[in-house]
Amino acid sequence: MDTRPGSGTWSSTFTGSDVLRKKTLEDLDLKGKLALVRVDYNVPLDPSGNITDDTRIRATLPSINHILDNGGSVVLISHLGRPKGKLVPSMSLAPIAKRLSRLLKLEVLFLSDCIGGEVMDALKNLQHGGVVLLENLRFHAGEVENDPEFSRQLGSTADIYVDDAFATSHRKHASVVGVPAILKPAVAGFLMKDEIDYFNRAFTEPVRPLVAILGGAKVSDKIKTIMTLLEKVDKIIIGGGMAFTFLKTLGYNVGKSLVEEDMLELAADIMQQAKSRGMPFYLPVDCVAAHTREEKAETMIVPVQEIPDDQMGLDIGPATILLFREVIGLAGTIVWNGPMGVFELSHFSTGTFSIVDALANSQALTILGGGDTDVAVHSTGNTDKIDYISTGGGAFLMLMEKGELPGINALDDA
Ligand code: AMP
Repeated sequence: MDTRPGSGTWSSTFTGSDVLRKKTLEDLDLKGKLALVRVDYNVPLDPSGNITDDTRIRATLPSINHILDNGGSVVLISHLGRPKGKLVPSMSLAPIAKRLSRLLKLEVLFLSDCIGGEVMDALKNLQHGGVVLLENLRFHAGEVENDPEFSRQLGSTADIYVDDAFATSHRKHASVVGVPAILKPAVAGFLMKDEIDYFNRAFTEPVRPLVAILGGAKVSDKIKTIMTLLEKVDKIIIGGGMAFTFLKTLGYNVGKSLVEEDMLELAADIMQQAKSRGMPFYLPVDCVAAHTREEKAETMIVPVQEIPDDQMGLDIGPATILLFREVIGLAGTIVWNGPMGVFELSHFSTGTFSIVDALANSQALTILGGGDTDVAVHSTGNTDKIDYISTGGGAFLMLMEKGELPGINALDDA
């Protein structure tokens, strides 16, 4: 279906009136039960296999501890990387079992497969209150293919299903949608519950004005989300590389800046749609430009109307920071995805870090998601001042776009 503005079918399935309400771990009697918990332990590893950031592991501790404290046992399932249905030793979850043991202060049994006779035997003999981590789900092609037999085998390992892998819940994989279709009850863990709660707070009767900030490299990655947001939010701020596609449609010469030519028409449609709704749609008014995208590049600050042919905009400029800060200061609720510039390089990081600072000091409910946005906030040390940092990138965007996700739909309604 063509959902482009102007096509006559410009609407999303996400009505905003549907509050997502799902059963959670708190709704279950866990005594004596073995819970199959889908987590997202797709953590970064260095070349020697050491975990460089265990945030995703720590994020699952509340659910695991709750199950244990209430008399249950836990069998954890996750993917790591993209082994494409093959056993790839560098993508084994074994190092994660060790880290988890340390964090939980109890022994986590690691099994070298996720289905099969040996797994079933080990689980049958599992001590009451035990914790098991099964090997990478994606070593079996059935996971990504959502193979019913693979789901059946996984589902037969436990008494209840818990989903705490929000970052994977946009994927129709066996452990995300296949298993909860057959293993009941199927409920949200605490991480998933938080994600759903904050989403509901932002999009169901939010404190207004509700402001969406979008940045990052490409318009094409976020176009559908922007289209839905046009119907949901009160103001939109666009920064990052994607802003230049919008600026070009206004007739500006954006030099060598990132532009997606095939998105120009859609970008123009979006701005037209915002205009006809009377919705403020903020684009950068100046930028930090350079010849090349390099740490030592010589930079200049220019109005967006005056970017030289041989330069590219790599960050928002000081006037834009002031403008965006003003809008943020007046917001009731803010959702943010994507950096304002090439923040990985110090010359082009000021815009993104200034927006982090503005959110940190805002009275609004602040919610952000997306790997890069998350990294930016962590590097400023402002994580405590943001109300909620989503663990999802693609899932966060898709939830904003559709108002639902396959993995959330698969859970029992409250
Ligand atoms: P995304 O994954 O779409 O959120 O994009 C994040 C990436 O966008 C980061 O790696 C940034 O370096 C990049 N980015 C942000 N602003 C720009 C820009 N003006 N030009 C090129 N790349 C950018």
